Amino acid sequence: MIKCPICEKGALKKVMEKHYLYGVDFGMYPGEKCSSCGEVFTDSSDIKKIEEVAKQKGIWGLGKKTVIARTGNSLAVRIPKGIAEFTGIKEGKEAFIHSEKGRIIIEI
Ligand SMILES: [Zn+2]
Repeated sequence: MIKCPICEKGALKKVMEKHYLYGVDFGMYPGEKCSSCGEVFTDSSDIKKIEEVAKQKGIWGLGKKTVIARTGNSLAVRIPKGIAEFTGIKEGKEAFIHSEKGRIIIEI
């Protein structure tokens, strides 16, 4: 039995997993899934294939520059559409914002 390297509790089982990248369906790939934490480990050659398709579709690298705007006494950060779709964040949804080592973190 191969133990999960993340939680060290579960056993890894061979599975076929649907892969999504930034909300786009990339199809089924074989992997090993932990019976405890649910983490899926995908073969690096398959990750490369997914990466290639993502590059072809022009969605590789979701990170984007954004400009901070002023709204009243606060500042507003525009969340790019791709990141909004990826995270499922929506207008009106409550989020928790805090800072940590020079970063601003928005938890949804
Ligand atoms: Zn695990």
